[in-house]
Amino acid sequence: MKLSPQKYKIEDKPMLPFIDAEEIWNYINNTIPTANKVREIISKSLSKVRLNLEEVAVLVNTENPELIAEIKEGAKTLKKTIYGNRIVLFAPLYVGSKCANNCTYCGFKSSNKEALHKTLNEEELVREIEALEENGQKRLILVYGEHAEYTPEFISNSVKTAYKVRKGNGQIRRVNINAAPLDIEGFKTVKEAGIGTYQVFQETYHPDAYKKYHLSGKKADYNYRLTSLDRALEAGLDDVGIGALFGLYDWRFEVMGLVRHTNHLEACYDIGPHTISFPRIQNASQLNLNDEFFVNDDDFTKLIAILRLAVPYAGMILSAREPALLRNEIIQFGVSQIDGGTKIELGSYAKSNEDSIDINNMQFKINDDRSLNEIIDELLEQEMMPSFCTSCYRKGRTGEHFMEFSVPGFIKRFCTPNAILTMAEYIMDYAPPHTALKAWNVLEKNLATIDDEKTKRLISSIIERIKAGERDLYL
Ligand code: SAM
Ligand code: SF4
Repeated sequence: MKLSPQKYKIEDKPMLPFIDAEEIWNYINNTIPTANKVREIISKSLSKVRLNLEEVAVLVNTENPELIAEIKEGAKTLKKTIYGNRIVLFAPLYVGSKCANNCTYCGFKSSNKEALHKTLNEEELVREIEALEENGQKRLILVYGEHAEYTPEFISNSVKTAYKVRKGNGQIRRVNINAAPLDIEGFKTVKEAGIGTYQVFQETYHPDAYKKYHLSGKKADYNYRLTSLDRALEAGLDDVGIGALFGLYDWRFEVMGLVRHTNHLEACYDIGPHTISFPRIQNASQLNLNDEFFVNDDDFTKLIAILRLAVPYAGMILSAREPALLRNEIIQFGVSQIDGGTKIELGSYAKSNEDSIDINNMQFKINDDRSLNEIIDELLEQEMMPSFCTSCYRKGRTGEHFMEFSVPGFIKRFCTPNAILTMAEYIMDYAPPHTALKAWNVLEKNLATIDDEKTKRLISSIIERIKAGERDLYL
């Protein structure tokens, strides 16, 4: 997404590595989190100014419980005042688990002979997409191992299939991908297929730790991974997602790494990350890790709040790796997207719920197995507004998170109306009566928050058209 002038002056060059571990440790080791400093930093973020590395170091070093509570409260306020109560819903779809790499933490690693290394064929892929559409999903992230079979053309074909399949009123309207880094030509190919966000996680930003976990294969090259998004942006993609796998190294370093990556993208491409992901290590087939750096729930909550404050314009994704109770709590600290109805065993969306789950068919174990409707139900209970909106990128408004954040009135003009309209579709096509009742109620309340009478009347009239059977109407 294109940025306004909040750039930090740094010497970074496009396509060149930018992480200096010593620099990051110096910040962490030489900042003292006094109450005044912490409060100043929180209010800087609340005035919508992005934090620099030194300020983030102050927050990650904060251990005083009262100040941590203030950091979390700050993140909560930022989320509420800037983004409101919407949560965007999506589902991951694993297309292929073959992998030539050997990441010690991952069930797909090539050395894991217990794992089923498999690729969905076209027919299986279509069945998965149909099953997802039958649940009401509109946004997918396709996930692949790193393997010679998964060429840019292969990835593009699966993206195109996802856009093409129609089951009843179902339709996938945005396809993001999480795939191994490509070269510039490869990125151009997947761009042409119409992907939304290209997401790749650095896993750990610490170069020596990285070596320890990535034993062989292309992914063992830290710098090639680090510059993946540079190549994506050089190829003309403009929605990119960053992430770190928490549990591989000191979480404070990883938070700093994510912010340093953000600085690099801003400095070199005038673009910030569309999304930030913070997966935490989960159990996996043949998991081979010690727990030295595992992140407990308190630190995990704290680091999410810090990331929210550090990069206030980025979307933040919390996945079904985390259990429902914790997700419900953490969502308030700045999360904008969650997956729902998630199944990550290859081919499992099309299977019945009674079929047993086999950990050898999965990359790792998820901890939230609620159905999409159960998640929607619980969000509605919390007066949150589930959204399947895909309007911005289809209307050419890329960088929507940045617009939501920086353009006054943008949320009331576009985000709330489109959330309402996509929920109206969900109610008509998929919601059981008890969810529908709750959802119309929350919709009405959200409609009432739009002060512009003309927009309000327009949305009400579109809702009537949806009730009469029209679909895919958006502002
Ligand atoms: N093969 C591609 C790659 O490595 O970039 C796709 C990524 S993988 C299918 C998606 C992400 O899952 C990885 O980037 C990693 O962060 C995460 N992951 C791998 N093993 C995990 C585990 N045991 N627990 C939680 N997350 C894990
Ligand atoms: Fe392969 Fe990705 Fe798993 Fe590594 S994390 S083994 S690259 S699927």
